[in-house]
Amino acid sequence: MTVTETAPIGTERWTNQWKELYEEVINTGLCTGCAGCVISCPHEVIGYKHEEGNYKPFHLEEELGIDNCTHGEKGCTSCTRACPRFRSWEPEADTHLFGKVREENQMYGQYKQLLLVRAADDKVHELGQDGGFVSAMLIWLMKNDYIDAALTSFLEGDGTSWKALPGIARNPEDVLRAAGSRYTYSANTLALKQAQEEGLSRLALVGMSCQSSVPPIMWKRKIGKVSKPFLFNIGLLCSKTFDDAIFEELFLAKYGLKKEEMVKMNIKGAFQIWMKDGSFHEIDLKECHQWTREGCKTCPDFAAEHADISTGGIGEDNAWTLCVVRTELGEEVMNRMIADGSVIARPAETDATAMKLLKLLSTVSRRRWPANAHPAPLVGVPPPKKKADGSTPAAH
Ligand SMILES: Cc1cc2nc3c(=O)[nH]c(=O)nc-3n(C[C@H](O)[C@H](O)[C@H](O)COP(=O)(O)OP(=O)(O)OC[C@H]3O[C@@H](n4cnc5c(N)ncnc54)[C@H](O)[C@@H]3O)c2cc1C
Ligand code: SF4
Ligand code: SF4
Repeated sequence: MTVTETAPIGTERWTNQWKELYEEVINTGLCTGCAGCVISCPHEVIGYKHEEGNYKPFHLEEELGIDNCTHGEKGCTSCTRACPRFRSWEPEADTHLFGKVREENQMYGQYKQLLLVRAADDKVHELGQDGGFVSAMLIWLMKNDYIDAALTSFLEGDGTSWKALPGIARNPEDVLRAAGSRYTYSANTLALKQAQEEGLSRLALVGMSCQSSVPPIMWKRKIGKVSKPFLFNIGLLCSKTFDDAIFEELFLAKYGLKKEEMVKMNIKGAFQIWMKDGSFHEIDLKECHQWTREGCKTCPDFAAEHADISTGGIGEDNAWTLCVVRTELGEEVMNRMIADGSVIARPAETDATAMKLLKLLSTVSRRRWPANAHPAPLVGVPPPKKKADGSTPAAH
């Protein structure tokens, strides 16, 4: 049995504008802050504050109030054509990419290959968060003239503020400067405008699950020009990002850990922090919970189900990147990278923990999707198992 759809996709005339987006996505808490609507607006009337407590789009013109748009009233529909949380986004992106919607039991979406991969180059491997696959792939795409640049995330200034910012990697050196994971939000889609101003028209997008559904939904809803530069779509598995305030309000206030002295962080069952003085700290994720960024609270997509290749770090060790190879394009690049020795790969099934976690975390994230929104993301999701004390485990 397959995931149901409420209306045949692509048959109705698309008239939805900011008014519907505001009412159904932004005002209902479904908005992830992916900035798809912001980059798609041809009139540039959607603003976005890339800062603590924000990461949400808002309307810049006041004529019709915050919840309506004069251009929308005249027929502009770009923002809803770009939004990967508007109405039947999941089956729409699925059918565009795979020709069918996911099966009930496909908790982490549709795919062709499941691999554990690491960069063959020691420097790339070392600088990468897990196996350095994402950076290796971006460098490979540049060297093989597939792309001009990639939209990724950089740290602000000298990196000591740990503020993640969207930016453009124009060469392998930039790719390595951007490598590693930051656990606050970076709407990498926002770097599109700058890339276009620089004449960079063949791009890879690296983004959290929410962002990696932006290009496929734009293609499906025929948005046109703005969707054309996205040639490769690399997703990062993700169950949440934290608000920037966590650095001051938890890490510093409770544990005395200054962000300017942090050198690396990771999330492996706990929030792990490495400091300049060589010390290592683990903070219980339950403690971090209250700093979960607003836009993540209803997100059902752990596994970046609409990327060409989705990547994660849930393997037994940090040396490999778990890769969910989803599209033909993703498969072609992966096979060529393996064949020319750019990466080393082994079947992901060799890591039972990774396979179990992939399914579990994908299921847990889907449970966050509200029952009154479009039903597709909840199809096939089993109810949480009761613990011995009768309670149900909380999603984090
Ligand atoms: C916020 C966040 C949450 C994550 N949660 C999980 C999880 O729960 N489970 C899991 O298995 N994996 C998770 N990942 C993915 C994991 O941390 C690695 O990014 C992934 O395994 C790829 O590793 P790599 O060594 O191949 O990537 P690298 O070669 O290190 O490349 C990583 C790429 O990610 C970009 N990036 C870094 N931080 C951000 C950010 N905040 N926003 C957007 N882009 C960014 C970098 O610019 C770089 O291009 C998360 C990643 C992030 C950023
Ligand atoms: S989910 Fe993304 S595209 Fe949709 S309203 Fe929010 S920021 Fe815009
Ligand atoms: S949980 Fe991750 S993928 Fe989902 S909205 Fe938050 S940042 Fe985006």
